[in-house]
This record gives sequence, C-alpha cells and structure tokens, in this order.
Amino acid sequence: MLPVLYIIVPCYNEEAVLPITSELFLNKLRDLEKEWKISQESRVLFVDDGSKDSTWQIICDLAAKDPHFKGIRQSRNRGHQNAVLAGLMDAKDHCDITISIDCDGQDDINAMDAMVDAYHDGCEIVYGVRSSRDTDTFFKRTTARGYYKLLKAMGVETVYDHADYRLVSSRVLQEFSNFKEVNLFLRGMFPLVGFKSTSVFYERKERIAGKSHYPLRKMLALAVDGITSLSIKPLHLITGLGVCIAALSFIGVIWSVVVALCGASVPGWASMTSIICLLGGVQLVGIGVLGEYIGKIYLEVKGRPRYIISERTQDWEAL
Ligand code: UDP
Ligand code: MG
Repeated sequence: MLPVLYIIVPCYNEEAVLPITSELFLNKLRDLEKEWKISQESRVLFVDDGSKDSTWQIICDLAAKDPHFKGIRQSRNRGHQNAVLAGLMDAKDHCDITISIDCDGQDDINAMDAMVDAYHDGCEIVYGVRSSRDTDTFFKRTTARGYYKLLKAMGVETVYDHADYRLVSSRVLQEFSNFKEVNLFLRGMFPLVGFKSTSVFYERKERIAGKSHYPLRKMLALAVDGITSLSIKPLHLITGLGVCIAALSFIGVIWSVVVALCGASVPGWASMTSIICLLGGVQLVGIGVLGEYIGKIYLEVKGRPRYIISERTQDWEAL
C-alpha cells in the first residue's frame, strides 16, 4: 500500500506568493504519485494563521478547483509554530506521512523526493537541513550558527541548520500528540520523540515573493523559547554562579576582617560601590532568568488551547 502524504503549509499574509508556490506543491504531489511513491489520496493542507489579506480566499479557491488542496483556518494569528502544529494534528489521522514546509518557496521542494525515499527505507522522521546559508544576511548567518552552538551547550538536542522543513510519520505524530506543552519549539521537540530518523540536505533560496514575517523581535522570542522550553541549564548556571560569588564573598569577608584587625582599613568607597553594582547586576540577571521560567510555568499551568480552528475548506472535516 502506498503511503498517503499530507504537505502541511503554514501561511500568514501570503497572497503574493501562494498562487505561485501552490502550483509547485501540486506538481510535486503529482510527480510523486506518478512515480508510485505516494498514494493518490495525498493532499496539500494549508493552514491559514489568521491572515488579514486574501490568503484564506485564495486557499478556498484552490480547494474548490482541485481536490488535492485542503485548508484550515486559525481563529486568529498565533504564530508559525502553532500553525504548523495545528496542521500536523489535524492531518495525522488522515495520512501516513506529513511534510511541513513554509509557503514562500525558500525550502527546496525537490528535497521531498529524498525525504519520501528515506521514509520508504524505514525512517519515521526526516529532517530537511540547509547545506548552505548563502542567501542569508551575514548577521542572520552568524547569529543562527552561534545560536545552534548555544542550544547544544544548554543540552538541547537539535539538528544543526534544520528549521521546520521535515517529514514526520503519523506514527510519530500519534506519540507527539502526548506532548502537551504550550511553549512550542518543534525542531527541538521532535528529536525527543525518538524513532529512526535521518537528514536530507538542500539549498535554501530567496523568498519567491512577499516579505518575511520573522522580524528580529520574533526571532529572539523563538530563540529564548527554544532554550527555556527544552533546557533548565540556565537555572543550574545561576546556581553555579551564586556558589562562586558566595565563595568569593566569604574570602572577601575574611580579608576585610584581617585588614581591619591590622588597623590598615581605609574608607574604600570605590571598591564597595563596584561590589554592590556587580552583585546587584548578577542578582537582577538571576531574577530575570528565574522570571522567564516562572512565566513559562504560568502559561503551561493555564493549559490554554494551542490552536483554534475556525474554518475549513469544503469537504474537509476533522475525524
Ligand atoms: N508564518 C505563520 N505565522 C506567522 C508568521 C509566519 O504561519 O505568524 C508562516 C509564513 O507564512 C511562512 C512561514 O511561517 O510560510 C515562515 O515565515 P517567513 O517566511 O516569514 O519567515 P523567514 O523564512 O523569513 O524566517
Ligand atoms: Mg521564509
């Protein structure tokens, strides 16, 4: 039996690029069908992440024109990670494999062939990995590389230079649905599920049309989420730092007592001020990091839904 593939495509204000890339996705499905790699029941599932432009209308038109296209719409904009999750969870009971991919044509659609081949060879997760970052700016390239190193140092298991272009089998998604956290960093969560996995390399291109929705602010928020939702090492580091500073302070106290007993104490305004400033700074950073985790706990405890689907294209009902 040939596997049913669902291509999951998150879209947010993508009216400029969707008409172009939807054709590419459809052609890829048809090619894979013709090569007998996937079933004729395979589909492209668009997830409109609460777009404010005509994206949803375009998705509805595509679905009316060709049964390969399906769409769901989030009740409001919730961000890329939640949109991908909504698509994966909605698709998991209808298919055997999913491939999540951005809708802007940056990720090489042709890498899907190798991903599906890897699935046929027994892999349940196939990570799409960028072989080069030539199209990224120098700033993005260096910060991204530094960030992956930082993640590794924090004990977070991620695949270097992998974003959210990946094949995941429905078997893995069934297990993944038990991961209930609301702070999502999908690329760091899938390695935790386990199962046989591999990587497929591809060149990342420029956006075909439209503009990026990931400004520096959102990128930094995702970066912090990545660390705080998958690692508690920063808390250990604060403890370690606290112990070191406590030890140094203890030595300082002994030293000042000895100096005072020797009668050589002088009004040490400068040293006093520096020590107070240093300790104040260290404590504030410590409290800030603790606050990050408490904020995350606060959100987790509330357990609010991670996505809300408000509309579906015709004939597409959840199971
Ligand atoms: N996206 C989304 N919700 C958002 C922001 C982005 O679903 O709030 C989608 C977007 O339509 C695209 C993908 O996430 O398919 C990646 O976004 P983008 O290309 O803007 O990010 P970049 O590639 O520049 O990091
Ligand atoms: Mg993009």
